[in-house]
Amino acid sequence: MKRAARRWWRAARGDILPDRAWDQLCRRMALLSRYTDGERIRLRETVRQFLREKTCEGAGGLTVTDRIRRIVAAQACVPILELGMEWYRGWVSVVLYPATFLARQQYTDESGVVHELERPLIGESWDQGPVILALESVEESAFGKCEGNVVLHELAHKLDLLNGHANGMPPLHASMSRRAWTRAFSQAYDHLAGTINRGAEAPFDEYAVEDPGEFFAVMSEEFFLNPQLLLCHYPAVYGQLQAFYRQDPASRYQSPT
Ligand SMILES: [Zn+2]
Repeated sequence: MKRAARRWWRAARGDILPDRAWDQLCRRMALLSRYTDGERIRLRETVRQFLREKTCEGAGGLTVTDRIRRIVAAQACVPILELGMEWYRGWVSVVLYPATFLARQQYTDESGVVHELERPLIGESWDQGPVILALESVEESAFGKCEGNVVLHELAHKLDLLNGHANGMPPLHASMSRRAWTRAFSQAYDHLAGTINRGAEAPFDEYAVEDPGEFFAVMSEEFFLNPQLLLCHYPAVYGQLQAFYRQDPASRYQSPT
């Protein structure tokens, strides 16, 4: 097919993720640039599927553009590259606010009284419901302008919620051991909590020890963003996440000789 004809065909077909947009994402997002060419081809297909199957809606006056959709989808598909879209079953919608948003939450105090409070958040995942994200943080995460990654974090919660509770244990593959997972994660959790309680410098975000669900989400972020750091501090957690996500991001870094 001649170039002009090919261009016309692609426009008529309405490629949801055109070459130029994808190349730009791969160049600008460190998270994507680490993959081999072959993996990026598969990742692009997963991103296309995400864009077809999930909706991105604006809230708080935000208009969601195709560029924003692609930035969300590209990050969201990294954890499921080797798992498949099936792992994002049970929900369809991503809701985006321009920046930090207020979420109304309930908690029960020790005497059984229920309190309602509003908390400023950059991300939230509802069981069987939407993923809610602050666009400002999504962009900072995408382009390495902050330490963590809110998209990886919230989607880790979604994977965790697949078996009903955000308790730090998503449904494990048949080849994996629940005992080994629990041992690896609880030892690392206790170690990080102890380090923070002693006032020593913690290698990971203190928010991780809020509860086991947050620990899994933060460790998932580190697995993809700083895999060598995680491998160095908590090799057993790295090993469990490697088996779960079926990826080995630390192997993509050359060790200094
Ligand atoms: Zn969280």
